[in-house]
Amino acid sequence: MSFKAEYIWIDGTEPTAKLRSKTKILGDEDKGAELPIWGFDGSSTNQAKGHASDRVLKPVFTCPDPIRGGDHVLVLCEVLNIDMTPHESNTRAVLAEVAERFADQAPIFGIEQEYTFFDGARPLGFPAGGFPAPQGGYYCGVGADEIFGRDVVEAHLENCLKAGLTISGINAEVMPGQWEFQVGPLSPLEVADQLWVARWLLYRTAEDFNISATLDPKPVKGDWNGAGAHTNFSTQAMREGYDAIITACEALGEGSKPMDHVKNYGAGIDDRLTGLHETAPWNEYSYGVSDRGASVRIPWQVEKDGKGYIEDRRPNANVDPYVVTRLITDTCCSALEK
Ligand code: ADP
Ligand code: MN
Ligand code: MN
Ligand code: MN
Ligand code: MN
Repeated sequence: MSFKAEYIWIDGTEPTAKLRSKTKILGDEDKGAELPIWGFDGSSTNQAKGHASDRVLKPVFTCPDPIRGGDHVLVLCEVLNIDMTPHESNTRAVLAEVAERFADQAPIFGIEQEYTFFDGARPLGFPAGGFPAPQGGYYCGVGADEIFGRDVVEAHLENCLKAGLTISGINAEVMPGQWEFQVGPLSPLEVADQLWVARWLLYRTAEDFNISATLDPKPVKGDWNGAGAHTNFSTQAMREGYDAIITACEALGEGSKPMDHVKNYGAGIDDRLTGLHETAPWNEYSYGVSDRGASVRIPWQVEKDGKGYIEDRRPNANVDPYVVTRLITDTCCSALEK
């Protein structure tokens, strides 16, 4: 029996890459085997010029397809040039090297993906031509006056779990129509691969409800929370002692590190990291226990236990998880290695 493999990849759209996918019909001989490489028209995805348009899709992560069910699969791919070198848009290949270099420190990540549903041009729950009641009651709310899109959120969660993704939870966010799911804790490559697949499932699930989802970091200007991707991080040493927690927090603040990180934490970061709405200003690095106004938060439980993990609160919802996990692994593991 043949089965359908949905080949998913990350395109070259600037400044924020988009997900693309197309279906390949595979046969019995491909079941349980390494799936074949495939190709696509890179000139339609900002990944090639028309006169030399072929790009290669190399499968890197496969899971059950919860939308189609049966033996059908989702296949996340890396983009390669036709000489099999990584394409310049391929940030996974760069992460793979860094993850390998620091694997002995056992870095793991949990990423909190915030996003916003839109019904046409309006955030879901926003009345036509106006605004809903100000923020305050929506975060983790219940009831039809506070919650918009729960049926989609539940369907997405169910799909992620059926796909075998490591989701640690979901919650309604501060702005109406805004939600969060968390992926992890997992190794750098695993968390980033799974987050990309969970994003694809979010768009695909919402599509069937005629609703769109966006990772826009500031979907509504003014006194409305933006959408982030808080990135929780630990190494073996951080899970065992507090000195390593402080070393990691200090390393993230050293020299040019704050700017090196922030400029790669998602397009439009200065619109979101204003110092208001539970954010630190984008151009000032700080860390603190329990402080949701700091760049990096040490959870109170971590201070109490004297070990655990830290939360980098700066990444935008539209951050590339291959990039944020690479930067944090590189900066913190280099400092911890000394
Ligand atoms: P918040 O209070 O910031 O909303 P969440 O519960 O949404 O926190 O997210 C916490 C995240 O931290 C989860 O994704 C979880 O998997 C992750 N996490 C827990 N322990 C660790 C750890 N030791 N290292 C890295 N991430 C961790
Ligand atoms: Mn064609
Ligand atoms: Mn959270
Ligand atoms: Mn949140
Ligand atoms: Mn958080």
